[in-house]
Amino acid sequence: MKKLSQPYYKKYITSELKRFDERHTGFSRAAKQGDRYTQIYKNGVKNIARKELGKTIFDHSMAVASKSVDQILRKTAYAREAVPAQNRTFRLRDPDPVAMSRIVKDAGKWFGADLVGVTKLNRLWVYTHWGLHNVRYTNAAKEGDPVDIPSQYKNVIVMVHEMDYDALARSPHREPATNMGYSRMAWTATMLATFIGELGYVAIPSGNELGINIPFAVDAGLGEMGRNGLLITREFGPRVRISKVFTDLPLAPDAPIDIGVQRFCEKCGRCAESCPSRAIMSGERTDKAWDESNSEGLLKWPVRAMRCFEWWVKNGGGCSVCIRVCPWNKRNNLIHKCVRQFAERDLFIKLIVQLDKLVGFGRQRKEPGYATWQDPSVTQTGPSPENVLDAHGS
Ligand code: SF4
Ligand code: SF4
Repeated sequence: MKKLSQPYYKKYITSELKRFDERHTGFSRAAKQGDRYTQIYKNGVKNIARKELGKTIFDHSMAVASKSVDQILRKTAYAREAVPAQNRTFRLRDPDPVAMSRIVKDAGKWFGADLVGVTKLNRLWVYTHWGLHNVRYTNAAKEGDPVDIPSQYKNVIVMVHEMDYDALARSPHREPATNMGYSRMAWTATMLATFIGELGYVAIPSGNELGINIPFAVDAGLGEMGRNGLLITREFGPRVRISKVFTDLPLAPDAPIDIGVQRFCEKCGRCAESCPSRAIMSGERTDKAWDESNSEGLLKWPVRAMRCFEWWVKNGGGCSVCIRVCPWNKRNNLIHKCVRQFAERDLFIKLIVQLDKLVGFGRQRKEPGYATWQDPSVTQTGPSPENVLDAHGS
């Protein structure tokens, strides 16, 4: 791993980058199309009637329950300045930024993050306007409102949350790892923002709203963006979610890193081969956009957001196939640590990709694995009093 003086993507910039409008994300566009977004969930309920392995009432319930904390905190804490619960009297006086970075990282990990990095707030990554998707989830603004982070906010603490390896390996079956990641993001970011509030500084906890998480994470030295359009970390590959806290607390930033992802993705392409909706590009990078959901001016592998979204609707749930199959998606154990030494040095990449596939890494895990209650004798369903139609799958 190399520490860099500037993020790796600087060398791929071809023209002036502009702030992105959240109204153009695939999710916000889908939310505008009537109930297109909620159709994912309706189809998930319909899947229960089919009694397919991986889409039973237990799989469904586990996934929905895993998101419940996230849904509450999005509507009450995210995108809002943390209000000190008890201390409005004292404030740390001139704290040393280096010491404070160390402290917030320790605190973030204690609250639940797996990796924590710090970066100066680059406002290029802050959305220009609120999109309908996060408006609905957070209730913190109206669609089209400008995203306004006051000028005193100078730093971003970026947190990475590992998703469960076995559970995520079930994708595109219903898996609870992603939703659990969202809940972990919510409680960790909320607690860290409250901690900073009690120290006498301002802090805004945030999930996916307010700005684009991946470049913040790259700037904070947590990884690089891969062909699949996701953050690839050294420790867990793309099997992570990202939360962040904006703050005026004096902090020393981390250096961005080079872990070899760019060179690896050039030679790999497994996510593009495996994507059920063909939303991921094979071949060379481009700085052109497929549509309004991509930005121009940076050579990368832009993802076709609406193709991905339409597959989610059809699937009746999310999809993490591009995470499951990625050779960087490993448990952070000794074997992974050894193999990534080669990956980081651009050695034997094609061989690593072939062997990875050959030995069966990235294959879908159909058996439940993560739960003892996946017993076929209790997956029979009948109509619920509230929603007879859905329970019948019609
Ligand atoms: S989430 Fe699924 S459909 Fe979307 S890009 Fe990844 S693999 Fe393709
Ligand atoms: S699957 Fe291969 S090409 Fe796709 S993000 Fe992972 S390393 Fe890059």
